[in-house]
This record gives sequence, structure tokens and C-alpha cells, in this order.
Amino acid sequence: MEQKSIIIIGAGIAGLSAGCYGQMNGYSTQIFELHDKPGGLCTSWKRKGYTIDGCLHWLVGSGLGISLYRIWEELGAMQGRRMINHEEFMRVEGEGGKVFIVYTDIDRLEQHMKELAPQDKGVIEEFTEALRICTRFDMPVEKAPELYGPVDGLKMLFKMFPLLRIMRKWKRISIQDFAKRFTDPFLREVFPLTFNLPDFPMIAMLMTLAWMHRKSAGYPIGGSLEFSRAIERRYLNLGGEIHYRSRAKKILVEDDRAIGIQLEDGSEHRADIIISAADGHSTIFDMLGRKYVNAKIQDYYDNLPIFPPLIHVALGVARLFDELPHSVVGINFPLDEPVTIAGKELRRLGMHTYDFDPTLAPAGKTVIKVMLPSDYAYWKSLREDPDRYKAEKEQITNKVIALLDKRFPGLAAQVEMRDVATPITYERYTGNWKSSYEGWLITTKTFGMRMSKTLPGLKNFYMIGQWVEPGGGVPAAAMSGRNVVQIICKRDKKAFVTVIP
Ligand SMILES: Cc1cc2nc3c(=O)[nH]c(=O)nc-3n(C[C@H](O)[C@H](O)[C@H](O)COP(=O)(O)OP(=O)(O)OC[C@H]3O[C@@H](n4cnc5c(N)ncnc54)[C@H](O)[C@@H]3O)c2cc1C
Repeated sequence: MEQKSIIIIGAGIAGLSAGCYGQMNGYSTQIFELHDKPGGLCTSWKRKGYTIDGCLHWLVGSGLGISLYRIWEELGAMQGRRMINHEEFMRVEGEGGKVFIVYTDIDRLEQHMKELAPQDKGVIEEFTEALRICTRFDMPVEKAPELYGPVDGLKMLFKMFPLLRIMRKWKRISIQDFAKRFTDPFLREVFPLTFNLPDFPMIAMLMTLAWMHRKSAGYPIGGSLEFSRAIERRYLNLGGEIHYRSRAKKILVEDDRAIGIQLEDGSEHRADIIISAADGHSTIFDMLGRKYVNAKIQDYYDNLPIFPPLIHVALGVARLFDELPHSVVGINFPLDEPVTIAGKELRRLGMHTYDFDPTLAPAGKTVIKVMLPSDYAYWKSLREDPDRYKAEKEQITNKVIALLDKRFPGLAAQVEMRDVATPITYERYTGNWKSSYEGWLITTKTFGMRMSKTLPGLKNFYMIGQWVEPGGGVPAAAMSGRNVVQIICKRDKKAFVTVIP
């Protein structure tokens, strides 16, 4: 039988994953990527002997005993990789030396919360009991949800039954609303800062902490680009082809069938099936000229909230943070007085230290970073004036260093490397719409929402990645690539096969 060809736009985790599974299933695939490296948002970069990690704080599926682990093995991402399982998810500091420590061990967390707020015992136990139930949850990964029949639905219902009650209850409560139930003012204030996103559903917090408790949401030593490079290697070993510095400008369509792509340099490339693993907005509204949009899709892009764009300040410092736990995802502390950065007032600062990954810095030194949600329009207009843009970046770094120096006296003098990525940087290197760092935001309204991987009226075409998987994240991107190949195999009446290298 003739081998079918697939073109994939984008070598982020979704595109690489689709490429790997396409190759495993006998398709001849090529990936076209605008950047000169794989990974998309799942990346790192080097400056002055330091490696700045731009993504993975936690990787769901990083530990044995959870089905997703197998997917990472199929993609060659786990073999030989060391994972750090954080002891603490976050430290949120308050006034007068008070600290809320989000231990990843549930018993320890419960005990700590009860010590902080004994009068809130009931609410704390309700929370930790839900966490314990969530540790029994394993994401179903074997079959693409699009291919579920009634029997699969029943099997799933049976498997998930104990969790349905938990899901139903906690997906509609935001972390902000739940925190109001604590009578202790400190816990009320700091609890929502652990996932500081608007209308963030409690169920997403519970699931993340439950995975961390199970040591299944660790950080890969070596950082995010190394992780992406492993999947790139797997793809190339399977016989796939990647073309870097190749921006797709147009998806070629004949008689409502996608037949190929045109790159920015004018060259045209054809295939039997086209998959866009690139940004959703540019795929639908630019590359396809908004021809395949229905009211539902238009509504997503008009009304759904997205993860905000970021200012990502990284510093290489000639010191370690022995006063902090060795392995913590992040810390958050109050400022002496409010500060305005890029037009937004800040009363607290969140930071990440990377002492736990010695591969990112010379011995005895480390990388720290601060990520600040920002405003896309602010940066877009600033970019028009390169001098102002540069000056703003400089000023932000100085402000961040000064704030960190107050918390860690002497730090300013230890800074050896400074780097700022703005929403414009994210747009330039990944093409993501409004520089969103994770696509559609999960809220109490969008949790569990499903989006179609096809567009109305367009044949031989699929979309994958964070713009069709609300909530985004690296596992969702990888699953999206796997699922689309299952769907294509089913359409081609082929058994879907996977191999662990
Ligand atoms: C700071 C930060 C922290 C994060 N932390 C985590 C975390 O701890 N855990 C987690 O699971 N997730 C995390 N994420 C989110 C995660 O990185 C993303 O959700 C995921 O990587 C998205 O993968 P994707 O393949 O769908 O999209 P992308 O990574 O955006 O990949 C799309 C690819 O398409 C390419 N492309 C776009 N347009 C074109 C075009 N026209 N032609 C050719 N190529 C094109 C882009 O260059 C890119 O390589 C984080 C993200 C950021 C930025």
C-alpha cells in the first residue's frame, strides 16, 4: 500500500509528538518549524554560562505508576532522564515571618495547615481528603476521546466513578472562593496565591498537588530544551524530517481539501494530510484566511480567556539559596511597598530558584527567575519604538533586582547574568496568539471543555496542541499529537501502534 504523507506545522511538543506517532504508524511525515530549534514554548536558552529554563516547572507523567509515563517513554523523553520531585510546591511568605508552605506530601501539608489555622480544621480536612482521593486518579490515555464508543464511555464511567463526585464538586469552585472559607486571615490571603490565576478551579489545584504527592509531576534535570531535544531525536530516529527556519504562511486548499503549505519564502510543499501544531489563531485566521470558521470557533477567539503573556526575568547569580528548601517550585513574598512594573502595580513578588539543577549554572551558582503576567497591547505599542522598548526591559530588570535584593540582601552584587523575555519575545519565537504562554486558561467554566481537532468544511486537515486542548501544558500537547494519529489511523482503517524505544 502506498505510504501516505503528512505535513506538520510546528515543532513544539504537539508537533513532535504527532510526528513520532505518525512515523510509528507508517506515515511519511515532515515538520516545518519557524524557529531554529525544537520545543516551541518548552524550551531553554543559554546566556553567559547559565542556562535559563523557560518552561517545565512540573511535568505530569514524570513518574512510574501513572499512564502518561508510558507516553513519555514512547516519545523517548524519559529514558536516561533524572527527575527532581519537589518537596514543596510553594512557599508563600506573609508579614512577620509567617509562611504558608505547600508541601507536596499531603500528610505534611495537612499538619502544617492545621498548625497555621487550627480553627479551620474542618475546611482543611475537606481539602486534604479531596487531595487524597485525587491521588487515585489516573488520566486515561490509551484511546483518543474522539474515538470513544458507548462501551468505552461505560468503562470510563466505571473507572472514574469514585472521582466523579470530587470532580463535580471541585471543578466549579475557584481557588479564590474556596479560600474565603478559611477564617484565619493569613490562610485566606495566601491560599489563592499558590495558583494565582483568575477563576482558577480547585480541581486543577487538587490534581496537580495529587500528582506531586505521587512523585509524578517532577522537573527534568537538564531543563526543558533537553527534554524537547530528546523527543526531536526520537522523531529523527523514526525517520522523520524537520525543516527549521521554515515559517508556514498559507495552508493550500483545493476543493475544501488541505493539500499542502506555502512557506514564507514562497516554496510550496504538498502532502495527503496537513496538521497544524502551530498557534490556533494564525492557523485559522491567517493561514486559512478565516474561511473555515463557525460561530463556535469565532466565539472561542472572541470570548474565552487565555493564559496571560509574561515578562520573564532571569538572573544568573554567584550564590546558592541555602536558606530556602533545596527543592521548591516557587516562593512568593510581600514587598515593603507597592511597585509598578510595565504599567501594573505589584504588592508581592514570585520567584523561582534552580539550585536543584546543577546543570544550569557553574558550581556554587544558580539561576533565579521572576515571571510577571503582563499586557500584550502594552508591549506591542512599546515595540514600535526600539529605544523605549530596550529601556523598559532594562528598567524592569533593575527593579526586579532591587526587589530581590531587599529579600536576599547582597543579591544585587552577585548578579552575573541578566535576561528578559517579553511578550514580544514569545510572539517572535513561538507565534503564540497574544503571546499566551499556555493557550486557553482553565477556569471554573472551561475546565473539562473539549474542542474539535478539525475545522468545519475542511477535509484532510487537523489542529493539535494547546489551542485545541483548553488548559494547555506539555502533557496535553503530547496527547494531542498522539490522539490525532489515532484518529487518522482509524480513518485509514489501520491499527494504531506504538513502540517504546
Ligand atoms: C514560562 C512557562 C512555563 C510553563 N510551565 C509549564 C509546566 O510547568 N508544565 C507544563 O506542562 N506546561 C508548562 N508550560 C506550558 C507548555 O509549555 C505549553 O502548553 C506547551 O509546550 C504547548 O505546546 P504546543 O506544541 O501546543 O505549542 P507551542 O509550544 O507553542 O508550539 C508551537 C510551535 O509551532 C511553531 N510555529 C508557530 N507558527 C508557525 C508557523 N507559521 N510556521 C511554522 N512553525 C510555526 C512555533 O515556533 C512552535 O515551535 C509553560 C509555558 C511557559 C511559557
